[in-house]
Amino acid sequence: MTIDQFNFAGKKAFVRVDFNVPLDENFNITDDNRMRAALPTLKKILADGGSIIIGSHLGRPKGPADKFSLKHILNHLSELLGVEVQFANDCMGEEAAVKAAALQPGEVLLLENLRFYAEEEGKPRGLAEDATDEEKAAAKKAVKESQKEFTKKLASYADCYVNDAFGTAHRAHASTALIAKYFDKDNKMFGYLMEKEVKAVDKVLNDIKRPFTAIMGGSKVSSKIEIIENLLNKVDNLIIAGGMTYTFTKAMGGKIGISICEDDKLDLALDLMKKAKEKGVNMVLAVDAKIADAFSNDANTKFCPVDEIPDGWEGLDIGPKTEEIFADVIKNSKTILWNGPTGVFEFENFTHGSRAVGEAIVEATKNGAFSLVGGGDSVACVNKFGLASGVSYVSTGGGALLEAIEGKVLPGIAAINE
Ligand code: AMP
Repeated sequence: MTIDQFNFAGKKAFVRVDFNVPLDENFNITDDNRMRAALPTLKKILADGGSIIIGSHLGRPKGPADKFSLKHILNHLSELLGVEVQFANDCMGEEAAVKAAALQPGEVLLLENLRFYAEEEGKPRGLAEDATDEEKAAAKKAVKESQKEFTKKLASYADCYVNDAFGTAHRAHASTALIAKYFDKDNKMFGYLMEKEVKAVDKVLNDIKRPFTAIMGGSKVSSKIEIIENLLNKVDNLIIAGGMTYTFTKAMGGKIGISICEDDKLDLALDLMKKAKEKGVNMVLAVDAKIADAFSNDANTKFCPVDEIPDGWEGLDIGPKTEEIFADVIKNSKTILWNGPTGVFEFENFTHGSRAVGEAIVEATKNGAFSLVGGGDSVACVNKFGLASGVSYVSTGGGALLEAIEGKVLPGIAAINE
């Protein structure tokens, strides 16, 4: 079933959204993009004459905690929807069930943070540090058992299920995947946001216009290894940027000073270079770096060849020659995936490389390329530089996007398609 085909008139929809928005110390929302992203789905349901039960998580609570209460976003949600949204102080229990049952067409109920219950994630909590393997196994079994009841209860509130939370689609949690089995195929569907995400990933995986270039930045090779290996089977150009540059440089015998490096991944870096060569992939590495004498925005800086970084100095961004090389490859591409900054973009003095990459992607996009930007930090980059509207698609998913591109089946997606 697709959301466009479905008529919500007189129906109650359980909608799983990702309202995990950042809050300041006074619980003001500092970035409401995730809430806005779900509006088309919520508005369609209301326009049809349906009612909505919204489920979400906020942060990583270990149990009920005021700090992580979704009540902090209630007023803003009401403003965005133009409807006074009701709130259930507990996603389980009498109140939620009664309020859900009483919902009239056009009404909305926001449930309290689903992760106040360990059953949402299905992981035991509060285990003693010295718990034995048997105790751990028993606790896991217990939470899995009670997870069934939890999931069934959530499902009982509604006639249909809509998943619009791409950011958690790679997790087989109660409300993101398990709940779907309580609804038949005609009563479960993706929301509009999820549909767009799935389509964007599909374009990068299955509808590739060449050359296809991936820019992988960020801090560590180890966290990106699976995706890099997988991309070697797909891309024409693989640009390696960010902190992982220096693991490659050191592996090739270069001097990297005190740059971030994973010494246990040197062989892996060489192996990836070998694999790229075998597969005919053009692996593009930095040739120069903007180096600093401290990990600080105020450090002294200079440019130098990437393999001649003096002792006591570290590479915190790419240099101008590298910017040019990267931009050249990007501008000649027809499909582009960007994950991870080229440097420590949180420091103003080391944003130049990431900005240059972003600008090259915008130019390529103007010339007809399809560009997908994903992963928290690269999204923060395009937003910071005001470039979001110039790329084809900015994904809301970090881990979910990478796992999808690795070719993994995401539980949240599979649960709807089953
Ligand atoms: P990731 O979460 O793996 O995508 O990494 C993003 C983080 O990598 C950002 O916080 C950057 O500050 C950091 N990063 C990028 N380049 C470097 C570098 N040269 N040295 C240290 N950290 C870096």
